[in-house]
Amino acid sequence: LAYLDYNATAPMRPEAEQAVLAAMRTVGNASSTHRSGRDAAQRVDTARRQVAELLNCTSGEIVFTSGATEANNLALRAAFSAGGALVTSTVEHPAVLETAKNLTSETPGTLRLVPVNEDGLVDLDALHDALAGGGVAVVSLMAANNETGVLTALAPIAEAAHAAGALVHTDATQMVGRLPIDLAETDVDLLSLSAHKFGGPQGVGALFVRRGVSLPYRPLIFGGGQERGWRAGTLNVAGIAGAGAAAEAALHGMAHEGVQVARLRDSLESALVEQVTDCRINGAPGLRLPGVTSITFRGAPADAVLAAMPDVAASEGSACASGAPSPSHVLLGMGRSRDEADSTVRFSLGYASTDRDVIQAVSSTVRAVRQVRAAMSTTV
Ligand code: PMP
Repeated sequence: LAYLDYNATAPMRPEAEQAVLAAMRTVGNASSTHRSGRDAAQRVDTARRQVAELLNCTSGEIVFTSGATEANNLALRAAFSAGGALVTSTVEHPAVLETAKNLTSETPGTLRLVPVNEDGLVDLDALHDALAGGGVAVVSLMAANNETGVLTALAPIAEAAHAAGALVHTDATQMVGRLPIDLAETDVDLLSLSAHKFGGPQGVGALFVRRGVSLPYRPLIFGGGQERGWRAGTLNVAGIAGAGAAAEAALHGMAHEGVQVARLRDSLESALVEQVTDCRINGAPGLRLPGVTSITFRGAPADAVLAAMPDVAASEGSACASGAPSPSHVLLGMGRSRDEADSTVRFSLGYASTDRDVIQAVSSTVRAVRQVRAAMSTTV
């Protein structure tokens, strides 16, 4: 199987696997004061430092969660509870969009959705208009889009949002571990991540909360007050240890992996564009994550294309919303038609992708698209 679905989840890095197993083999609750407890707490401390190093922030600014979904929920809930409006974009992950809709549902007019252009870039005029309305509690914009890989220039957005008195949150789930993030330079207040996107285990993530930011924190889970009250419950020591080890390995490999992944993605894209007629790459050229390509094969529904190439793991729009037959809100938000959105495949590569994966994906995709188009033309 050629695995090209890193944006859904990446294979575990060997370093993460080792850290998970080592932590699972030891007994001890990270809150206990005896030696076993201290051992667990130390694994958590190490992981917190490793995640903080990946982001260039301090350990005290990291809150471990069950993933980016929970981190997004926590961030928006806390920031919105100060009162005011919530500004976000139409192409966010459901973990932000649905949370934003839910939080604002009882106070009409408090959700301000900013559109994107046909390249998937946030409409800055619309963002400024949303801020000019005043009373904005938080601006939440994703660092990199999960379907197209389109990147958001966070610095000018954070500056404008702060000037308007709003907090800034970014869902950086797809960017963390793939491109450098420097929180000493990037002035966001809150950032979400999920470990399994960069080679850690599934079910672990973190929320960065900048020190000194005044935030009426509103936990989702109450209890023993772990994670400085942000999230009660016995810590998932093994998962957290795996997240830390993956963060360290991702930081270490980033420069090299980034170049390799970009080369493979570019060769996948150019081969497909050359060999398949009537296709279009979605997302701003040059402003995308190195490992992602979203390609519309006109006249070839993506579900049929994927079914016709069982030797390739890719996804139809976003795997996170799979099971739902509705078309990608990201592509619709970029002005694509429903047919175009339904005929789009996302390939996403990562640290362990190889030339072989690309060669296999190209030959299977070319064959599958031709086959599906031929079948469509005989049924019409
Ligand atoms: N945000 C983005 C941009 C994502 O791609 C994902 C995962 N698909 C999430 C949030 C949610 O992550 P998790 O399912 O690990 O909580």
